[in-house]
Amino acid sequence: MIRFDDGVIRQVERICPSGVMRNFDFASRSWWRIGGTAPLAARPRTRSDIVALRRFSQNVDLPTLVIGEMSNLLFADERVDALVLQLGAEFSRPTLVDATTVRIEAGAWVPGVARFLQQHGMSGLEHICGIPGTLGGLVMMNGGSLRRSIGEHVVTVTSVDANGDTIERTRDECDFAYRHSVFADLDEVIVDVTLRLEKGDPVRMRQTMRDILRSRRLKFPRKLPNCGSVFKSNPACYAEFGPPGAMIERAGWKGMIRGGAQVSPLHANFIVNRGGAQAVDVLSLIGDIRQSVHDQTGHLLEPEIRYVDNDGKVWTADEAHSRFIANASG
Ligand SMILES: Cc1cc2nc3c(=O)[nH]c(=O)nc-3n(C[C@H](O)[C@H](O)[C@H](O)COP(=O)(O)OP(=O)(O)OC[C@H]3O[C@@H](n4cnc5c(N)ncnc54)[C@H](O)[C@@H]3O)c2cc1C
Repeated sequence: MIRFDDGVIRQVERICPSGVMRNFDFASRSWWRIGGTAPLAARPRTRSDIVALRRFSQNVDLPTLVIGEMSNLLFADERVDALVLQLGAEFSRPTLVDATTVRIEAGAWVPGVARFLQQHGMSGLEHICGIPGTLGGLVMMNGGSLRRSIGEHVVTVTSVDANGDTIERTRDECDFAYRHSVFADLDEVIVDVTLRLEKGDPVRMRQTMRDILRSRRLKFPRKLPNCGSVFKSNPACYAEFGPPGAMIERAGWKGMIRGGAQVSPLHANFIVNRGGAQAVDVLSLIGDIRQSVHDQTGHLLEPEIRYVDNDGKVWTADEAHSRFIANASG
């Protein structure tokens, strides 16, 4: 096992001076306030930092975990043995290409992107104004709201693979589907995204965004840590059974508590941390809810949130449940 001796730490600090943190604690930083620590995290400022970090990790066989705001991630409770690469505000510059096209670095804060587009009268992505993530995380998840997704406005996505090579994909090559992109199955770091919008009126756009934010404040639990919707809303099953929250509520799970985790009494598609929740509490709730909704409706809910294991490998929550929970208790 390699890992984080002084030589490795010094090299990472040389590539990313002033952007390296030791003992990076997920429980105090992730939106769910759950997780152990990683020995080392780097916050790159430029694409060349990312290329250099990827080449270095490849050379010394160091697993890399890329994260943004951690608003869609559940972390293992113990040590996460990977070099964490966190994209954030230092790597978030927008470049206007023309009146309706903009390229933005992947660490950009999504509500800030929505505000930037509104100020420039570039309309179409007002629905992302309340999503607490980075642009890279949003594109990787093909996130959005009001049944829309960022992918609809993507022209190209640039990423850096494990060898440090840069790849540019067109929207078609990103394989966008509902809350899915090709990046879910690739070990690549999204570095920038080119978006094409329509011309819009900034005043009307601002009003639309205010309305969206007001409606989210009323609908979603805000007081306790959570990761947004746990399960994806499947458009096909929506017509028959309604949204996942309604299915989970009908199956009797609203308000149910497991350890420190609870199915939100406000919105059953949210799991909140009431204090001291562990990853195992959340994963076992997810597994049991899926089974129970399946027994009632014949439909298997697909989790939206993702789980990071002790090696820094990212799983969908259903894979994680069957691998780390069901097998352990079965
Ligand atoms: C209160 C709340 C409300 C939410 N509402 C919504 C909503 O309305 N719609 C919605 O779609 N989501 C919603 N979410 C979920 C979440 O905010 C989004 O999925 C967001 O886009 C995740 O971005 P992130 O930067 O936090 O990614 P993270 O959670 O840090 O990472 C998510 C995944 O993306 C990968 N990733 C992150 N950055 C990159 C990158 N640069 N390159 C490659 N892979 C990367 C990570 O490895 C991980 O697999 C909500 C979450 C919360 C807490």
